[in-house]
Order: sequence, then structure tokens, then C-alpha cells
Amino acid sequence: MRVYFDNAATTPIDPEVIEAMMPYLREQHGNPSSIHWHGRQARSAIERSRKTIADLLGATPAEIFFTSGGTEADNSLICSAVESYGITHGITSRIEHHAVLHTMENLEKQGKIKLSFVDLDEKGHLDMASLEKLLQSNPKSLVSLMHANNEIGNLNDLDAIGELCSQYDAVYHSDTVQTIGHYKHTLNTTKVHCVAGSAHKFHGPKGIGFMYISNDLQVQPFIHGGSQERNMRGGTENVYGIVGLAKALEIAYRDMDAHQKHVQAVKDRLIGLLTEKIDGIAFNGDCANAERSLYTVLNVCLPESPDNDMLLFNLDIAGISASGGSACSSGSNVGSHVLTAIGSNPSRGAVRFSFSKNNTMEEADFVAEKLATLYSVTV
Ligand code: PLP
Repeated sequence: MRVYFDNAATTPIDPEVIEAMMPYLREQHGNPSSIHWHGRQARSAIERSRKTIADLLGATPAEIFFTSGGTEADNSLICSAVESYGITHGITSRIEHHAVLHTMENLEKQGKIKLSFVDLDEKGHLDMASLEKLLQSNPKSLVSLMHANNEIGNLNDLDAIGELCSQYDAVYHSDTVQTIGHYKHTLNTTKVHCVAGSAHKFHGPKGIGFMYISNDLQVQPFIHGGSQERNMRGGTENVYGIVGLAKALEIAYRDMDAHQKHVQAVKDRLIGLLTEKIDGIAFNGDCANAERSLYTVLNVCLPESPDNDMLLFNLDIAGISASGGSACSSGSNVGSHVLTAIGSNPSRGAVRFSFSKNNTMEEADFVAEKLATLYSVTV
């Protein structure tokens, strides 16, 4: 058996998505900027896709801009908001994805902003009082706080953060890469100015994503050199990627309730079996709490063992694809910045298992068995 439990890294593309993309890889090859028939076919595929995405997310088509993925979307939104609004202070957390963290740190290095970090509680959740204090001392900040953490799965309350940001006149950006296509968003009622999405996290193709930019936010162009994306991002569009992105989101919304129930059951089964089989096992962050974590992510904290460095390798040999990385040991620059930030013990092993609609209960049984065997040998 070969098990793929690394769906927070990327998900397998849905066959229905491939089917929707095929005409644009084969016969519909026109450049969407061309005014002839071939160009118009491509243009209308893009605009239909934009409308599908906007309708599903509670946005208008004019608020959706295609990018090469989540990283580009986060980089562009943060840099452009700082530039466009003359923002001099940024607020983020130490457990953001590097697409956010490194972008904010780079702006600080360039002397454009001063950066502050929101305190986290012992489970890795945002301390909202600390956020409010930072906003009180620094109104008109750029706030970048993710919807859900990709390593430990903790969910933030977009609406509550949005309310605070609006009270203190802050621009609010959220990295929603791990929740788009997994939870229903109503962007027209949430007080968030801009978010990022990436198709390959919800069974779409890699290399395509989007930014939602609320009509309330007026930002400058991101990439110069063409009038595509209403002058915001130059460059010939990834037509088949855009079509695949829209189809993947459509399927995600169509089947969301059933998939959420199924995936949560796979996760719960794995939690139950691991708790039963491995003494001293724990779960990093708040990922064992179904109310406050992604149903797709389980970050397991394993007992101390000299073989923990080999954990992912041993799992791979046993037929299991997962990811992880324990907290950084002091002085070392490797390991997970997220686990370090939440104070995880670096001598304990950490594995992130992440699930999709394609996973089964049998796979959870298999993984629990293999991990328990590894631990009975190594501890
Ligand atoms: N943000 C989060 C939370 C992610 O999990 C990822 C992907 O790992 C990204 C951003 C980057 O997305 P992409 O791979 O589309 O650049």
C-alpha cells in the first residue's frame, strides 16, 4: 500500500478538472488578448471562470485577479498595499507561511515598515488582546494574518480580526490558501480587504491562483508590461490553469459538506488509533480540536527518540508520504519556524499528516499501524 497523506502540500488533480482543461490545452490555443475568434474564445473562458470564482466566494468578478499561485498573490498584495497606502507599520504572526513572513521581513529590511508580531497562546492561537493593543498603538497598519495555518491547522476567526482591523483603520490581508475550497467564504460580508488562493490546494492544477481585492482597496499594479488583469498583472494568462482553477472550486463547493464529513472522520480515526497505540503521543497546536482546526491537517508530536531525525524517511520507506520537521534546536536554522514559535520541544518528532477526499479509513489504519511499529522499535 502507498498512502498519500500530504495534501496540505498539494492535492491530486481531479479528473473532472483535467477534462475541463483539455480543450484549452488542445484546440483552444488562442491568446486571450487577440481580438480574432481564437482570442475571443480564450478571453470568454477566462471571464466565465472569473465569474464562477467570484460567485462562489461572494465577490464580484472585478475583485478577482489571477496569479501564478498563493506565493505570488501574498507577495503582490502585501507589497502593493504598503506602497499604495504609504503604510509604515505591519502586524503579522510568527506562524505565517513564508510567503507572508519573508515578504513582511523583507519590507522591514528595506526600511519601508516596522514590523510587530501578535502574541500567541499556548496552543498557537492569536491573542486578540495583543492584536488590539498593537492596532491601538499603530492605527493604519497593514495586518497580515492567515485564515488557517498550513503546518498545525489552527483556524483564525477572519470576521473577528476584520472587525478589529476596521475599527483601527488597518488594511487587512489574509492568506486563505489552506481554506479556499475547503470552507465557504462570504468575502462581501467579511471585513477583509484582500486574500490569496491557490488551485493546487483543492484538486486544481499547480501554478495558478488568484487574489481577491475588495473594491474598497485601491492598489497599484503588481507586474508591469501588459494590460492583462485590468492592468494589474501583465503577462499572457494561463488559460487552461484558470479554467482548471474555476472547475476545481466549483467541484469543491458542490461536494464540500460530504467531503468535510469524510475527511474529518479519517482524521478522527487516526487521532483515536495513534492515541491508543503510542504512549505519550500529543498533537501540535490545536489540531486535535475539530472546532478550531482544519479538518485536513493533523500534526503529530511523537515521544523523544534518537531516531526522530529519520522519521519521515522511515515513513516513506514504509509507504507513507507525509511531511513535517520538528522545532528548530537552538542555534540551528533548520526545522519548522511554526513549531519553534509555539514552543514545541525540538527533541520530540513531528509529522504533519494532511488529508483529502481521496483518502480512506483503511489508509488511516495502515498509517497508525506503521507509525506504532516504528515507535515500538525506536523508543
Ligand atoms: N500560503 C499557505 C498557507 C500555503 O500553505 C502555501 C502552500 O504551501 C502557500 C501560501 C503558497 O502557495 P503556492 O504553492 O500556490 O505558491
